Amino acid sequence: TGFEDLDLKRELLMGIFEAGFEKPSPIQEEAIPIALAGRDILARAKNGTGKTAAFAIPALQQVHPALNKTQALILTPTRELALQTSQVCRTLAKHLGINIMVTTGGTSLRDDIIRLNETVHVIVGTPGRVLDLASRKIVDLSECPLFIMDEADKLLSREFTTVIEQLLAFFPKDRQTLLFSATFPLAVKHFTTKHLNKPYEINL
Ligand code: AMP
Repeated sequence: TGFEDLDLKRELLMGIFEAGFEKPSPIQEEAIPIALAGRDILARAKNGTGKTAAFAIPALQQVHPALNKTQALILTPTRELALQTSQVCRTLAKHLGINIMVTTGGTSLRDDIIRLNETVHVIVGTPGRVLDLASRKIVDLSECPLFIMDEADKLLSREFTTVIEQLLAFFPKDRQTLLFSATFPLAVKHFTTKHLNKPYEINL
């Protein structure tokens, strides 16, 4: 199959082709239709497999640009990964009219607050800062349908797990969760059992 067989918006297809992607990688071929069908996903995926686009494409497809709401949250364990991921999203979303914001620790909270006066459809960030913004009611996740965790094995190490569980409480009950992880330590298994809804498993 090709990207043009995946029922994507024309503007998104343009971004995909402009990014230089000609056909879906195996993880993209498997994950994109399942994610678009609304299912939770538990994917074993290393760097270099095309995992970023595997979650970014269905996320961008599902965002309604005319809705003035945050519609997807992508969590990463580090600022560097958040920046890289937001870059991929921006490239893919170039023709969609979707606003994407990066928010991580170690940067000005005030700047984030100012930025959030305008519509932000997709947030890419690290757990602590996003929880801070949600707790202060600066970010409203109560109608955010999609939650994505990249490098979940790193996200769920040590103190991050409680932060993420606190963050989950801000989402609607019927949110969709896509979890990507290179390895499956117990912390990830426990989290998956507790917080994912009959996830479709991808092992490549
Ligand atoms: P990732 O695993 O998300 O870090 O992606 C690894 C590399 O593969 C990045 O440089 C992407 O730009 C590239 N890539 C992702 N999907 C595709 C695709 N379908 N075709 C060609 N390159 C891709």
